[in-house]
Amino acid sequence: MTELIAPAPQSQFLTVLSRDAAEAAFWKALAPAPLGVEDVALDALVGRVLASDIAATVDAPPFDRATVDGFAVRAADLFDSSAANPVHLRLNPEVIACGSAPSLQVAPGTATAIATGGPIPRGADAVVMIEHTDPEGNGIAVARAVAPGAHIGFAGSDIACGQTLLRKGMVISAREIAMLAAVGLDRAPVWRKPRVAVLSTGDELVQPGQPLRPAGIYDSNGPVIAAAVAEAGCEALRLGAIADDAEALRCAIRAAHSAHDAVILSGGTSKGAGDLTTTLIAELGAPGIVAHGVALKPGKPLCLAVCEGKPVVVLPGFPTSAMFTFHELVAPALRVLAGLPPKGAARVAATVPQRLTSELGRTEFAMVALTKGPVGLVAHPVAKGSGAVTAFAQADGFVTVPALAESLAPGNPAEVTLFGATITPPRLAIIGSHCIGLDAVMGCLADQGISARILATGSQGGLSALRRRDCDIAPIHLMQADSGVYNRPFLLDGMRLIQGWRRMQGLVYRPGDARFEGRDPAGALAALLADPDALMVGRNQGSGTRVLLDRLLNGARPAGYWNQPASHNAVAAAVAQGRADWGMAIQPVAETQGLGFLPVAEEHYDFAVWQDPRDPDAVAAFEAALIQSAAALRACGFSVG
Ligand code: AMP
Ligand code: MG
Repeated sequence: MTELIAPAPQSQFLTVLSRDAAEAAFWKALAPAPLGVEDVALDALVGRVLASDIAATVDAPPFDRATVDGFAVRAADLFDSSAANPVHLRLNPEVIACGSAPSLQVAPGTATAIATGGPIPRGADAVVMIEHTDPEGNGIAVARAVAPGAHIGFAGSDIACGQTLLRKGMVISAREIAMLAAVGLDRAPVWRKPRVAVLSTGDELVQPGQPLRPAGIYDSNGPVIAAAVAEAGCEALRLGAIADDAEALRCAIRAAHSAHDAVILSGGTSKGAGDLTTTLIAELGAPGIVAHGVALKPGKPLCLAVCEGKPVVVLPGFPTSAMFTFHELVAPALRVLAGLPPKGAARVAATVPQRLTSELGRTEFAMVALTKGPVGLVAHPVAKGSGAVTAFAQADGFVTVPALAESLAPGNPAEVTLFGATITPPRLAIIGSHCIGLDAVMGCLADQGISARILATGSQGGLSALRRRDCDIAPIHLMQADSGVYNRPFLLDGMRLIQGWRRMQGLVYRPGDARFEGRDPAGALAALLADPDALMVGRNQGSGTRVLLDRLLNGARPAGYWNQPASHNAVAAAVAQGRADWGMAIQPVAETQGLGFLPVAEEHYDFAVWQDPRDPDAVAAFEAALIQSAAALRACGFSVG
């Protein structure tokens, strides 16, 4: 750093505002309003927001026209016409095509040939379909009566001149473009799109697409914030990542502020890193920072400022915190600048399946994955409290537990803010034990166009979700202790088991470890328990692997037992990277990581479903996908059939 201009770190968060107070201060200082109107050509209008009502200046259609191929007639001529007594009409010497103006009147006793879309000639008041006529001498025979107005599209019947076509605030889609074009408009007045600069800060940040250096972190905030800015109706200008260097930051922030309508930074707000950015923001102009430190969890370091009429925001560095705070407090203001209503449609109602605890006095956020439940949507919390960007992979959005609620009880309604406007819950929800073999099955399902989501909760969690009908399929591997029988004994009445595959569970270790090589699991375990330096990695409660591990340990609790990740991959990674010496995982995962493997027991990994599933076709597709993926599963080291 060239210059340390940050005041003492203690100066941070002197006043922590409530969510509502922070929002009120921000809106008061900003007084958000659309930025101005611009006329945009038809071809560039999709997604833009109309700045004023649009009235039709012409009729559509502009004249009375035929809606079928046939003959323009006077209905009165055909009044007495019937099959027994057809009426003869003389043909006028013209054919009215689409786009040709008629020149002759339809006099009594005559008809004029007319094509669909052709203008109705003077004198005619109906069209007879060609199918209902026969050629006859110098004209046609018509064997039925027609009502006046039959098969005529009257002028202005689609859109009447003077009628309000489109309303201010509408987001223009193909449908609106069709309406504008139909009344001859080639442009429309729309709100100017706010140009929003998006900047990341941090010495550690590397742009996606570049090789990761040691201790580097990919700048995920930049792209995700830019995408969310675009979804809020603004144009995002991604300016990359700036190092934690006072001069570089000052230049970047000043340039961003002067050339854009709003600036969104992320990172550098937490204690310790120093409040370099916030100090620099204070230099940008009045009124400056209106909230720094908000009672949000996560998201406390959020900083909201308004400088010379433009919003300047510093979101917390952790990607999930950045998203929560952006959607909760920043997106509504940006939407108003863009001419949209503050709250987008990207919110849905759901219930929570389990108690969501929260601290009184703080607005808490929890990432959730949506599934279709017995009544409406269910919002399953995922990766609570984690700052991991990968939590986005599973989450559809987040729920907000208000500051005055101590918790959200199971079955309670919750509003879910979606991470994207087009997010919908998957057709199949698969909740339970995770196995990498599922990837092959998911691939086959996706090929059939069936969306599915897997939530790894362990076998017991999956069975609970299935019991509540919050999921469609629960992958389980649970052994009944006395009988040694897998899975079937755990089904409830009305459930059935779809046979999955078997996988070998065993002890994983780094190749060459003398405590394992040449031993059987019991021998290895004895060696490990005798070694004070041996460090294991455990598994989470409720997983089938944990049951097996506990049986093997027979009451022993070696060092590392309480380190309990929720997946085979995490166990294998911990051992491969030397954070632990051993653990229990399945063979395919051990092989992928190049670990040694001592087989302990083959376990059955099957799928519990209801006999009367919510979506029988989707479950049937899953069973078909399972059969299709047998070869792929075998290739991964699983036993099938
Ligand atoms: P900070 O607020 O700068 O102290 O950052 C808090 C945490 O978020 C640190 O672990 C940063 O590495 C991480 N972080 C900050 N900015 C980003 C970003 N743009 N993308 C991903 N992670 C980030
Ligand atoms: Mg930082």
